Amino acid sequence: MDSKQINKELFSFLDHSPNAFFAVKNMCDVLDKNGMTRLYEGMPWDIEPGKGYYLTRNDSAVIAFKIPKKDYKGFRIMASHCDSPVFKIKINAEITIEDRYVKLNVEKYGGMLCAPWFDRPLSVAGRVIVRTKDGIETRLVNVDRDLMIIPNLAIHMNRQVNEGYAYNAQVDMLPLFCEKGEESDSFRNLIASEVGVSVEDILDADLFLYNRMPATTLGLNNEFIASGRLDDLQCAFASLKGFVESTPKGSVAVHCVFDNEEVGSGTKQGAAGSFLKDTLHRINRSMGKTEDDYLMDIASSFLVSADNAHAVHPNHKDKTDPTNRVYPNKGVVIKYSANQKYTTDAVSGAMIRAIFEKAGVPYQIFTNRSDMLGGSTLGNIAQSQVSLNTVDVGLPQLAMHSPYETAGAEDTAYLVATAKVLFSSSVEETGNGEYKLIF
Ligand code: ZN
Repeated sequence: MDSKQINKELFSFLDHSPNAFFAVKNMCDVLDKNGMTRLYEGMPWDIEPGKGYYLTRNDSAVIAFKIPKKDYKGFRIMASHCDSPVFKIKINAEITIEDRYVKLNVEKYGGMLCAPWFDRPLSVAGRVIVRTKDGIETRLVNVDRDLMIIPNLAIHMNRQVNEGYAYNAQVDMLPLFCEKGEESDSFRNLIASEVGVSVEDILDADLFLYNRMPATTLGLNNEFIASGRLDDLQCAFASLKGFVESTPKGSVAVHCVFDNEEVGSGTKQGAAGSFLKDTLHRINRSMGKTEDDYLMDIASSFLVSADNAHAVHPNHKDKTDPTNRVYPNKGVVIKYSANQKYTTDAVSGAMIRAIFEKAGVPYQIFTNRSDMLGGSTLGNIAQSQVSLNTVDVGLPQLAMHSPYETAGAEDTAYLVATAKVLFSSSVEETGNGEYKLIF
């Protein structure tokens, strides 16, 4: 499939996934359409060779897996994340200003670029918890229209603003919601009517702002794509697409998308939680294997942590390492870090190179400048739960953590092809530092 068609599908996924809850729902829809069976952590599992399954945790993380038809050894895992830096709407959100305006009280989720959140149409999406006859249930809500804006202060009122400005999240970042009007013009009423329940039946909610600007293609020859949440929905999408197109042979294929990467991953649905470990153990037991089998399988497994990487910035080329520099449309990025913020080492680097070669996919190498701390990814965090050979890869992009990011139009297809080969192949540990790579 060509990259144009892949980007079309990617754009639809991005536009319909304003936050992790929607990204997970949309991935579940794709898995349903491709004949996967939904499992629940709170119910018994009955799984068989040759079939595909998926489960979610907290409605904001998803793991899908396919069992090979014949006896298998190990797991082939691609892990990405579906959360992005954003503003969360606080409980008791409304603040009335001089009896004229109503703005909403918000707080930061993760580390975002603040400036691009100003002067653009925003809306709100997330989940609400609704009272039922027997308990509670979760409903997703997306107010699908231009609803709010965070207006800049005019330059006449801050002449120094272009010399640098320190954004105060409690002062500068609160969105204008409406003019002060009737009592019924409340944010709570809006959400209740969008969900179709009474205000009293909403017990709690996790609601976030999002940028209304849809994904697009740009550049003279349409060589760039731009959208909110490319970090890391671009990788999550590529992993999913490669997964549904794959045929696992020697190993279980595992598509894994975590929440809360942007806030340290330390939640039940984050990479530091037990979601992946619990799921792999449960697959192992359901297939009639022992704990020893599990540990032997882990030794013959491979985890690809897929999270976007910093391309050389056209206006700030000196911010990048002198010899390990990556650019849009030049292939999937392998990330290295001596202090293991990225998990790649010589063994996992060699393993992923063999996969790129098999997939016919170009790749490039990224390291941070030696005098600059980069970000970390979920790859090294996941090691505390499931310890196995792991590599950090990603797709090159600009403006990471802006609500509108830029990347290459060719690169998503490269990661789809990579994921497909990963999920369809396997590795066997045959000795000390020796591995058989089976394609
Ligand atoms: Zn990321």
